[in-house]
Amino acid sequence: MKHIETEILVIGGGATGTGVAWDAALRGFKTVLVEKRDLTHGTTGRYHGLLHSGGRYVVKDPQSARECIAENRILRRTHTHCLEETGGFFVVTPEDEGDFPDRFVAACAETGVPCNEITVAEALRREPLLNPRVSRVFEVPDGAADSFLATHATAQAARIAGAELFLYHEVVGLLVEGGEGECRVAGARVRDVANGEDVEIHAAMTISATGAWAGQLAKMAGIEVEIIPGKGTMVAMNHRLVNTVLNRCKMPADGDILVPIHTVSVIGTTDVRVTDPEHLRIEPWEVQFMLDEGDKLVPGLSKARVVRAWAGVRPLYQEGYTGASREATRQFTLLDHRERDGVAGLLTITGGKWTTFRLMAEKTVDKAVGHLGELKGCITANTPVPGVEQGFYWLGHRLHEVEAARLQGQLVCECELVTRSMLENAARNNPTVTLDDLRRDVRLGMGPCQGGFCTYRAVGILHEIGDQRSEIGAVDWNVAFLQSPAYNQDDEAGNRHLPLTIDNSPLAISSPNLLLRDFLQERWKGVTPILWGRQLKQERLDELIYLSLMNADHLPDDGGSSPLSEFYNFDTTPNENMDIPE
Ligand SMILES: Cc1cc2nc3c(=O)[nH]c(=O)nc-3n(C[C@H](O)[C@H](O)[C@H](O)COP(=O)(O)OP(=O)(O)OC[C@H]3O[C@@H](n4cnc5c(N)ncnc54)[C@H](O)[C@@H]3O)c2cc1C
Repeated sequence: MKHIETEILVIGGGATGTGVAWDAALRGFKTVLVEKRDLTHGTTGRYHGLLHSGGRYVVKDPQSARECIAENRILRRTHTHCLEETGGFFVVTPEDEGDFPDRFVAACAETGVPCNEITVAEALRREPLLNPRVSRVFEVPDGAADSFLATHATAQAARIAGAELFLYHEVVGLLVEGGEGECRVAGARVRDVANGEDVEIHAAMTISATGAWAGQLAKMAGIEVEIIPGKGTMVAMNHRLVNTVLNRCKMPADGDILVPIHTVSVIGTTDVRVTDPEHLRIEPWEVQFMLDEGDKLVPGLSKARVVRAWAGVRPLYQEGYTGASREATRQFTLLDHRERDGVAGLLTITGGKWTTFRLMAEKTVDKAVGHLGELKGCITANTPVPGVEQGFYWLGHRLHEVEAARLQGQLVCECELVTRSMLENAARNNPTVTLDDLRRDVRLGMGPCQGGFCTYRAVGILHEIGDQRSEIGAVDWNVAFLQSPAYNQDDEAGNRHLPLTIDNSPLAISSPNLLLRDFLQERWKGVTPILWGRQLKQERLDELIYLSLMNADHLPDDGGSSPLSEFYNFDTTPNENMDIPE
């Protein structure tokens, strides 16, 4: 069995884990991160997309509000290109009566969240589809955040600082030494899920940043960590109904935020306790509820076309808490298992929000530093990740680049403006390729047709490039420019923008038919809960393309499976009592 020695082992490749690896590597620690699937496989890749100003928490949870506004300001400097400066409104709809708006204003002042009341007429001028019956509107510095790009950028920054990242590597056991009284975690046994080989990683400090899976991880060391897994469902509409984040001005509840992100707008969320963070089922009432609540912010929202529904699980933690997940604290928790359980060498960081991942990482590494006895300060708040020079994201950036460089003929995915070069570069760089990895890398299949027209093209291209492995080494891969059509294109003289190194290892999964099957399953997962109206027509067309024309469910794949086949195969039992919106 392969052995690796490191100082810090980070488990989990979400926002928190990559943040911890980045921070630890910058402080000079030898750092290894393992993630059981691709980066952002967990909640980070299934969240709402809001860069919190803190406004949501000012009344209910002032500490979270203070953390959010402080981190909001920092992330604008360190992760600029991953953010869109949409701004946010807190609006008082006819349903939101009472003294909450005045308490909100006072609490904003108390917590330092900038809040400016504007007239309803001004709000309607800026957001014409906003409910004209709102009585008050407060402006706050909310934003939209692309967690796929941000997590990749943080990971790239961690690599540049010296961290090693192993994706598709799952921790199957913790290395526990000693007995009662002097028990210690000395690393982990990790399985490469692509080839089944095990690796032992020995570490002075193991940090679990496994989100909703933190309880399962801790159990490997015989420790009880009771995560409160609150599932939240979100629904994406097929275009940007608004350009500003809309929040209801009331105590946080379900379906009260609409976030414009990339080409769509997302209404969310619910909060329901679940038992399994991996396999989530979306119920029809959740979708219907989101649409009904959305109508209160933007009348007629429910009549727009819904393109997808998905769910993520909040990794909430509150010692001894037994109530509803909606009421559980949104603050983060750092568990030092030496102090809490008498097990040295293991920390768990959980809870919090995407917006506070950097702070969570800072506090975690501070704690590790304390144990490892080396006093090195955190510098992430003043260290931009690669790509910030591009400035804030703006909706037209891809179209602008495609038009300026005349790349229309190169498009593989017209909805998200993904060019062939973007796809090829992303595929050649991935340690294990699935189409879902490429979706996260370049937003393949994430637009209104949900992969209907780009999936077969992408599979054809992957078939063509087959086993030609990357000319671009993973370490050098400039993820900051992953989503830029122009940057991925060779210039007129045939020169590449991308740094080149040779990596001849074969693609771990090279069966395009298998990739196609798995990806179609994955896309179906998100559209089955919303099959009515115009989306049903789109799906019927996609079904004809893939099942009738291409016979996709009978293409030979040698009965193969990818590391994600099991995850993609979902429960197809029809939902009972399906109330179909008119
Ligand atoms: C519905 C919903 C909406 C949200 N919206 C927002 C929002 O708009 N703004 C905001 O700021 N926050 C939001 N949040 C909160 C935010 O998304 C989470 O707090 C954050 O993404 C958690 O990141 P994480 O890295 O801690 O966990 P995760 O992203 O879940 O990462 C944990 C990782 O650990 C990996 N892992 C688990 N077990 C193992 C193992 N055995 N071996 C190796 N790897 C393993 C998983 O695959 C996963 O990738 C939302 C949360 C939910 C549920």
